Amino acid sequence: MRRSELVRSLSRVPFPEDPRADLEQVGTPAEAAAELLFAAVRLDGLDGRSVLDLGAGTGRLAVGAALLGANPVVGVEVDPALVRIARAAAERAGVAVKFVVADVAAYDRPTDVVVMNPPFGAQRRHADRPFWDRAFALARRSVHAFALADSRTFIASRAVARNAQVLETQPVAWDLPRTFPHHTRRRVTLAVDRWALRTETAP
Ligand code: SAH
Repeated sequence: MRRSELVRSLSRVPFPEDPRADLEQVGTPAEAAAELLFAAVRLDGLDGRSVLDLGAGTGRLAVGAALLGANPVVGVEVDPALVRIARAAAERAGVAVKFVVADVAAYDRPTDVVVMNPPFGAQRRHADRPFWDRAFALARRSVHAFALADSRTFIASRAVARNAQVLETQPVAWDLPRTFPHHTRRRVTLAVDRWALRTETAP
């Protein structure tokens, strides 16, 4: 699938209608999602690999991974209202994704690749931590994720502690329409990095 085609398909996966600030329900911009997913293709190959999307929201990353040939794909999301939207989006896109309503902290099935756009911890300090813990614990091969640029030291040190190798830390354009009432400007630009980490240790 061409990148422009993926961007188009991902744009059709809706953002949450009434996003909850406490859960940092911020959908991934389609371009950024495509960037992360194509990095996973380039570095891991997604065809036939199992993918887990932590904090799947309305399903952009999970649906995109399935469109690129990942199988099986599981999305874990705590908000059942978003899971309903995600299931409909997967069906419209014609892909099989299993969405599970659960807290990521309680999810324990290993996978080849973890993809995630977790809460950045801007609302609740350290809300991102259980996501990174789970990602390192469950990914047999790699983790592809977004994080605020502020979190670089935390993620790099967590990677070292987990024996994971940082493959890429790439700043991405992250320009969002106003999402929450506390956003006072019409558009919000965040300093966000895309991370690619290899969790699989060489034999
Ligand atoms: N991955 C989606 C949504 C990212 S926003 C996308 O790329 O568009 C982060 C998501 O994590 C939100 O949907 C939020 O409801 C969910 N979330 C927050 N805390 C969670 C937790 N502890 N367990 C599972 N999901 C959680």
